[in-house]
Amino acid sequence: MHPVFAPTRPGALADRDDFPILGRQIRDGKSLVYLDSAATSQKPWAVLDAERDFYLLHNAAAHRGAHQLAEEATELYEEARGAVAHFIGGHDREVVFTRSATEAINLVAYAMSNTAALGDTRSPFHIGPGDEILVTQMEHHANLVPWQQLALRTGATLRWVPVTPDGRLDESAFDALLTGRTRLLAVTHQSNVLGTINPITDLTRKAHAAGALVLVDGAQSVAHQPVDMAALGADFFVFSAHKMLGPNGIGVLWGRRHLLEQMPPVMTGGSMIETVRMDHTTFLPPPQRFEAGVPMAPQATGLAAAISYLTALGMASVHQYEAALTTLALERLTALDGVRIIGPRDGHQRGATLSFTVDGIHPHDVGQVLDDRGIAVRTGHHCARPLCERFGIPASIRASFYVYNTTDEIDELADGITQAQRFFA
Ligand code: PLP
Repeated sequence: MHPVFAPTRPGALADRDDFPILGRQIRDGKSLVYLDSAATSQKPWAVLDAERDFYLLHNAAAHRGAHQLAEEATELYEEARGAVAHFIGGHDREVVFTRSATEAINLVAYAMSNTAALGDTRSPFHIGPGDEILVTQMEHHANLVPWQQLALRTGATLRWVPVTPDGRLDESAFDALLTGRTRLLAVTHQSNVLGTINPITDLTRKAHAAGALVLVDGAQSVAHQPVDMAALGADFFVFSAHKMLGPNGIGVLWGRRHLLEQMPPVMTGGSMIETVRMDHTTFLPPPQRFEAGVPMAPQATGLAAAISYLTALGMASVHQYEAALTTLALERLTALDGVRIIGPRDGHQRGATLSFTVDGIHPHDVGQVLDDRGIAVRTGHHCARPLCERFGIPASIRASFYVYNTTDEIDELADGITQAQRFFA
């Protein structure tokens, strides 16, 4: 055994020994308590092995070359696409591999401004002055800044739905802001700060009735609850592998097939072309049209392994397990004097992400005390600065739970907060 690894505690939904890093000793021999999975998740051996095996046994450029290794690499890459499609209830040809959720959102935003630049006014992606893009006040910067920039490039107007004091979307404001001018609704499925789960099916139905396209940011949902594209009803759904036990460097844009077919390319170059002449080029159909360059086959293989791992746990069980951890954490933290939860204080329609502040102590100082005990949480604005401003705070502390966390770790979090209160009293 590596000297920094030790046997890990029992009692999580997943077998903690599947995650080697959880056995790490940190800060002078303390056991790691990892409560930062909303930032990035830890990886099981199955994912590490899948990616390593790709390089050990099959390494070649997928979709390029006629030799056996290239065939194997292509097969693994396309199998991974099939696994993703099956996991989210979509079709293979609707799954575009990107670098991340961020890149997937930017892909749609740039496709829209490319449509405007090409002057294709009949396209479903056309946008221009007088049109509106509707987002919410609880978006991660990844689902806000690309739309601000699209508005700047095209002359469209950005509008946003406010958040209520208890951290929910203000649905009556949503109804008022959604009009025939709305070309696109971009909304998060689950807030990375508040934990709030938004009623996507409802929002999508209303947005479609108003004639808008809908993009759903699933970066914080797909890893934690069953998702089904047909049930959600959106036009686009994006996420990153690294938050769902998979590798860094790969994400997904799911899009309705008939829309992807009408979407102009964004990144251009190799692997996405049909024929190239010196003066013009024709493009492959989706999804390849949006995957310029050598495909991320090793990462896709790792993502497929993560999906198998989650599927074996069962996404309904994952959701249930995390709901139990969240309920316990809410109970423990609300019982502490001076702790203020930012977001819903009950378990209804919320995920396993819990943000809070502690009266009189800066979030970074609380984070420092927790870190000294081996507890990893995130402090700061969590890439959602306007949301922090909405709640009148510069920053918060965020604990987020996943399949490998235990109830003991929640006790340790509560004890750590109490220690910080004593230290700074
Ligand atoms: N959307 C949400 C809700 C997120 O929490 C994050 C990352 O924290 C992103 C988008 C961006 O994900 P990535 O950085 O993997 O592109």
